[in-house]
Amino acid sequence: MQTNTAYIELIRRVREEALLSSCEALLEWDEETYMPAGGVENRGEQLALLAGLLHDRGTDPLLGELLEELEGSDLMADPTTPAAVNVRELRREYDRYVRLPRRLVEDVARTTALAQAAWARARAEADFSTFRPWLEKVVELKRAEAECVGYVREPYDALIEDHEPGMTSQILARLFEALQRELVPLAPRIAEAAGTTKPLRKPFPVLQQRAFGEAVAVRVGFDPKRGRFDLGVHPCCTAIGPGDCRLVLRFDPQDFAGGLLTILHEVGHGLYEQGLDPQHYGTPTGEPASVGMDESQARLWENRVGRSLGFWQHFYPKAKELFPEPLAGVSLDRFLKTVNRVRPSLIRVNADEVTYNLHVLVRFEVERALMSGDLSVGDTPEAWNDGYRRYLGIVPSNDKEGCLQDGHWADGLIGYFPTYTLGDVFAAQLFASAEAELGSLETQFALGEFAPLVTWLGQKVFRAGGRLSSARLIESITGSPPDHRPLVQGLRTKYSRLYNL
Ligand code: ZN
Repeated sequence: MQTNTAYIELIRRVREEALLSSCEALLEWDEETYMPAGGVENRGEQLALLAGLLHDRGTDPLLGELLEELEGSDLMADPTTPAAVNVRELRREYDRYVRLPRRLVEDVARTTALAQAAWARARAEADFSTFRPWLEKVVELKRAEAECVGYVREPYDALIEDHEPGMTSQILARLFEALQRELVPLAPRIAEAAGTTKPLRKPFPVLQQRAFGEAVAVRVGFDPKRGRFDLGVHPCCTAIGPGDCRLVLRFDPQDFAGGLLTILHEVGHGLYEQGLDPQHYGTPTGEPASVGMDESQARLWENRVGRSLGFWQHFYPKAKELFPEPLAGVSLDRFLKTVNRVRPSLIRVNADEVTYNLHVLVRFEVERALMSGDLSVGDTPEAWNDGYRRYLGIVPSNDKEGCLQDGHWADGLIGYFPTYTLGDVFAAQLFASAEAELGSLETQFALGEFAPLVTWLGQKVFRAGGRLSSARLIESITGSPPDHRPLVQGLRTKYSRLYNL
């Protein structure tokens, strides 16, 4: 086959796989939003069938032959061209895929669909024992997966690699160690300085919260003609394809700021999806660089933008107009302090910026030990609680506020949590670089100007797609490899200003 013909055939195939994956994404989005509870078993079968089809296509020996042919061609001469990037990344995916037997892939899809329902029940009843057999199955399947795809040092690395190519437990352990050293003592100092700042819990009608949140999303750059908003239990961003990016939102009738930060988080993911190059849809060049890089965009909008003074200088007067009663007598300064309240807490998704990564650290250690076999599934609640005692100084009183709080494991997502911390680290590095080039971003936010930041991110991050691994992309944009210091420095500066520390 001629090189060009081979490449066209390769791209035709991966685009079709992208379409199949987008059907999977649509079913998952429906499960999060509108599917009745009775649909769970059939949905499990649908997802297992699609996973099987995708597996068949992804492991087709013809794909391997096409890749081999292209790897020896001049198409690879310049490793930065879309064609070279696509061939290199598709080879990595193919090699991983062919090592996974179809039965295992289907088993994971079917088991996790049922495990999610079991987890939701166990969580509602704060009873780990009913989820335990499911987690045992998931851990066993994920260990089998790690053995099939292979690893150099430990099985956990094989799972991390799936979300964050090039990242390992060892690199992450060093990053967490550095963060823990800085953040564990910083959190109580800020909490003490904040004194009696209380969360602002008053009745904020959900309908208005939603209207305000969607207006903010559009104002900062989310395109509603190529996306939509729906309500669901778990906030998320699902990219169905170019022109269709769906945000699932959740509101607490008592917590206005929390709901808005959740929207900004999903908007961050959404801007990335909407900013990818549609011309490369379905190929690695047109996809986010990694899960951690994707998360960096969410954390950037949630924390660096949504908890900043400038952002609220612009939006707080509008919020006061919309919620005159609950915000009566609440100054901007007081509001900003509640938005930036730091307190050791038990629930990750409600955690402040300073303690958040300590929550992730607990999960990293538990997962790593589960995968290596150092920890048995039955001892998970104890290990979890022990982590909270060590890093946050508090202990959950039951498993609902302990190891049952997140649905990731039921979903088969082991090795995913660390990407949240990578996201925070990348976000801080990117924000510092953007500011060095664009001038004070806070001043721009105060004027309602978000386009310069979105454009900058578009040029540096979105359009780069998957051309480089996350670590190399960060280095190419900011000049340094993944580094915890901008994150810690950003927090120190912000909180020193807020409380004159
Ligand atoms: Zn996210």
